[in-house]
Amino acid sequence: MVDHMSDWLFGIAAALLGLGPKPGPTLTRFEYAETHMSSHFRIVLYTDREETARSASRAAFARIAELDAALSDYQPDSELARLCGQAGGPPAHVGADLFDVLARSRAMSERSGGAFDVTVGPVVRLWRRARRDRKMPAPERLAGARALVGYEALRLDPKARTVRLLKPGMKLDVGGIAKGYTDDEAIRVLKRHGIDRALVAGAGDIVVSGPPPGRDGWSIGIASLEPSRAAPSRFIALRDAAISTAGDAERYVEIDGRRYSHIIDPWTGLGVVDRCGVTVVARDGATADSLDTAVYVLGPERGLPLVEATQGAAALIIRSIDATVQIFESRRWREIPQAGPE
Ligand code: ADP
Ligand code: MG
Repeated sequence: MVDHMSDWLFGIAAALLGLGPKPGPTLTRFEYAETHMSSHFRIVLYTDREETARSASRAAFARIAELDAALSDYQPDSELARLCGQAGGPPAHVGADLFDVLARSRAMSERSGGAFDVTVGPVVRLWRRARRDRKMPAPERLAGARALVGYEALRLDPKARTVRLLKPGMKLDVGGIAKGYTDDEAIRVLKRHGIDRALVAGAGDIVVSGPPPGRDGWSIGIASLEPSRAAPSRFIALRDAAISTAGDAERYVEIDGRRYSHIIDPWTGLGVVDRCGVTVVARDGATADSLDTAVYVLGPERGLPLVEATQGAAALIIRSIDATVQIFESRRWREIPQAGPE
């Protein structure tokens, strides 16, 4: 108690004398990368000890691998795949991670009026094949898949931690939220290891905690509509935030002169045809990742009000119609500090 008291008094005295805290140890930048969820995951962090950097990043990657095993849509034995195998049956007990991701997903479905919907799985599969064959899905197959879409048929019971998929054949696809959610969890693991200046990127979904030493934020490049053609044209400074981009720049299929995105409009069952790039900043990765997908489906006119209504969220939407490019910025987007390149 006495020790504690003297610390406290010293703290006050130091504050009165204008003495700052002791200058901290020199922080070094460490960077690691691994492949999970068929994506390139990158961790950048600052710490004074290499051993801490190594053990913290190892633990963060282990957490990412654990989430991959639960949420993967490609691994037939993932927890998500097993759950889908029980569609049409009684409520199934699931792990805390899968339940949490589905609860966050359902909340975004409700907030976006169904634009974001993880029950699009059967339709996403048809479009995956369409991309491979460059052929529209057959109308009867599309109709069959569409009949299985609708988040109301995804029932969650938080007390029992069970999930029930009401219709046989339903398939969940968490590809629109999993990477952001996973980044959040990795940042949390790093914090538990004492690292509070870090960046975790799962492909284009990025979550950051405190900034690099001496900086106001992490410098994040904003890609133009077609990233393959141009380097980022501007940079923003972010701390304790997440950023995510949904766009048709990389994954789409062109059939009969129309370009269909890998993001599905749940109401039509078609890949979104608007040529758009949506970048969302939010307080956490799961929100940023799911919100960009929702806004992409809704389009700028209906999507921006959803961004404004989301605490701490901001968006930049670039839409190109024929040869004209339209730019939409949410209110908070204009308040984000600019930065120079990293
Ligand atoms: P990516 O970074 O992989 O482009 P996005 O956040 O843009 O991820 O989400 C796209 C993925 O989300 C698709 O590959 C698909 O798995 C899933 N998806 C497609 N349409 C929807 C939708 N309307 N709601 C929720 N998820 C969707
Ligand atoms: Mg997304």
